[in-house]
Order: sequence, then C-alpha cells, then structure tokens
Amino acid sequence: MTLPASTVLVFLDPAFENGRIADSSQPQLMATDLGATRGDGVFESLLAVEGRARKVQAHLNRLESSARALDLNIPEPNVWRRAIDTAITEFRDAFPAPSPAEDEVVVKLLVTRGVEGASTPTCWIQASPSPAGSRRQRETGIDVVLLDRGFDTEAGDRAPWLLLGAKTLSYAVNMAALRYAHKQGADDAIFTSTDGRVLEGPTSTVLLAHVETVDDGAGSVRTVKRLITPQLDSGILPGTSQDALFTKAKAAGWELGYGPLVPQDLFDADAVWLISSIRLIAPVNHVDGREIGTPAMRKQLTAELNELFAGIE
Ligand code: PLP
Repeated sequence: MTLPASTVLVFLDPAFENGRIADSSQPQLMATDLGATRGDGVFESLLAVEGRARKVQAHLNRLESSARALDLNIPEPNVWRRAIDTAITEFRDAFPAPSPAEDEVVVKLLVTRGVEGASTPTCWIQASPSPAGSRRQRETGIDVVLLDRGFDTEAGDRAPWLLLGAKTLSYAVNMAALRYAHKQGADDAIFTSTDGRVLEGPTSTVLLAHVETVDDGAGSVRTVKRLITPQLDSGILPGTSQDALFTKAKAAGWELGYGPLVPQDLFDADAVWLISSIRLIAPVNHVDGREIGTPAMRKQLTAELNELFAGIE
C-alpha cells in the first residue's frame, strides 16, 4: 500500500481524553461508514501557523451549525480543542517545518454519521501540510471563471434539505467545478445563481473592494475604501475568514457591505479576492479573461488586507 504523505490522524474517542492517535498508513474507517458510502457528514478546515490554530472557535461554531443542519450530535468544543492540539503537536514533531515561514499545518475536523446501523458519529482530526500551490497563489494571484451553480438565491430557504449553507462532506460537486475551471485554463471558479447573483468560490468566499476619493467641498480630500461580500443568506457558506477580516477592516476604517452582487460588480471593482482559511487571501487577476483593476492597485490593497489578516488569532 502507498503511504499517504505526512498525515497525522487523531480520532475523538471517549477512552482517550486528548484524542486517539491513529496510523494514517493503515485503514481506519469501516467500509460501511456513512461518510464513505453516502458522503453523509460535515467538516471544517483550519490553518495552524507556527503551532497556533487560527479562528478555532469560529470553526467549531460553524461545525456545530453544519451538524445541526444534518441532525448530527457532535462532541463538545473542548473535546475537539484537545484533539486539535494533539494533532498539531504530533504533526510538528513528526514533520518539522524547514523554516518558520513554512510552518503551516492544515487541520481538518471531520464528522460522519457513523457506521451503518450504529448511532454514534465517527469524528476525527486530520493534520497535513499546507499545499505549496495555495501559498503560491496568495503571491501570484489567480484567474477565475464564472460558473452557474444551478440554484437561485432563494433555494436555500425554500429547500433546506439542499444544505446549502452547511459545510457537508459532499464536496464532489465543488471539486468538479474546480476541475472544470482548470480545463478552461483558469485557477478557480466563482459560482453564480440562476437569478444572476455572485455567490462564492467552490472553496472560498468572494470579496471585492472599491476605493474612492471624496472631496468634502471644503478643500480636503479623503480616501474611502469599501469592502463588499455577497449576501450571507443567498445559499452560501458563511466564511470565517471573511467575518474575521471584516472585523479587522472595520476597526481600520474600511466601510463594509453585503451584496447583492452581480458579475458586473466584479468587473467594476478595484480588486477582487477569493478568501479562505487555508489559501488565505488570493487576489483575482482576471474573471472570464477580463482584468480586474490594475496590478498596482491589486498589489496595494492585497498588502493592506494581508496585514489586517495577519493580526487574526
Ligand atoms: N465557501 C465555501 C464553499 C468553502 O468551502 C469555504 C472554505 O472552505 C469558504 C467559503 C471559506 O470559508 P472559511 O473562510 O471559513 O475557510
């Protein structure tokens, strides 16, 4: 059997207070686990930087709300926190980073409905290296294509069983959208709704910025910077990165806004980003082949947002 590259697994197990470390080179799930047979479960992905997991409470809150949407009972936050700590410590001991700048660990929290016929979910943590591609895209930026998600913005409310605002294990559609984007020569995608709204990326939240110079008529000129994201109630996953960044940006004097957004808003913006917990802030260079803003403006605004984001715990 081929060994998975540098992965640490920690199962949540009542017999092990800090979680049960499991061998990632050996099978660990039952073939009848409903996570494997139906993709029935929820997950979270967070980043640990230099050993510190970021935004843990926000991820645990979203895990809880995703689990509630699926009627799943999951362990208490403290049980998760101890297992997360175990996974990060084990990972960094087993696979030390060559430099502090590369000391990033991707921590996934996974829950399935459990083995068929049993009534307890299967829960575990997976720690693995941060993909080099993600780090590169933060620097170079990305090209994206707009892809139709096939739902309107009311679908989440009208049909809650679609689980549109939950982070479920059924990511096959999101991964298919990414492969489709790659075949078009793009790096990523932005979903649109059938009623013409901008939604989110397959694994990220959309952000855009407008910078305006305002003359107050009394001889003084000030710069107004506005950060906008699609409406949270349009059937998208509420992003923990967007939420944390908005708090920091507000404190730094940015104006904030929540959609509705249409594709033209992306083309008219001074900068657009796809933002998420692992890749962080990826500037969008082109949407459907059209350049967004200017390289200088994208660079300057991205640097500002990166600085705000670096202060997030
Ligand atoms: N939207 C989707 C569909 C996602 O999968 C993700 C992250 O995985 C996000 C948005 C961004 O969420 P976060 O910032 O919490 O990572």
